[in-house]
Amino acid sequence: MDAVQDLYQEMILDHKKNPKNHRVMECCTHQAEGYNPLCGDRITVYLNLNDNHIDDASFQGDACAICISSASMMTEAIRGTSIEQSESLFQDFHSLVTKNETERASQLGKLTAFEGVKQFPMRVKCATLAWHTFIAATSENSKTITTE
Ligand code: ZN
Repeated sequence: MDAVQDLYQEMILDHKKNPKNHRVMECCTHQAEGYNPLCGDRITVYLNLNDNHIDDASFQGDACAICISSASMMTEAIRGTSIEQSESLFQDFHSLVTKNETERASQLGKLTAFEGVKQFPMRVKCATLAWHTFIAATSENSKTITTE
């Protein structure tokens, strides 16, 4: 398998075609917008938080395949967890897509599909935009974050 095929693993393409939790959440408690000017990705992440527990997570956006599928898989991964668990998941995910040593965190599960992204530094921002936006949404002040 060459690197580009590696990047667009089947699982990523499936999520692009059929994104999970791709909807506006009308009565969310928290939300934030993320923008990646390098690629033009724009997404909004919606959360329904109950204290520290993520009861629901969804997103809307106009973005590339990597960004949409990352947001789709992220919302699946963080629903029903605590903010702390999700932040730790993000740290592992960030290492997966940026670091060369393959010290694979077992909790990542399906998210390891994004491992090939690290060979494409510009794509790392696409893959992590949803996560950065999620972190921004958990802080009280809603705002637009950018990757630059
Ligand atoms: Zn992108």
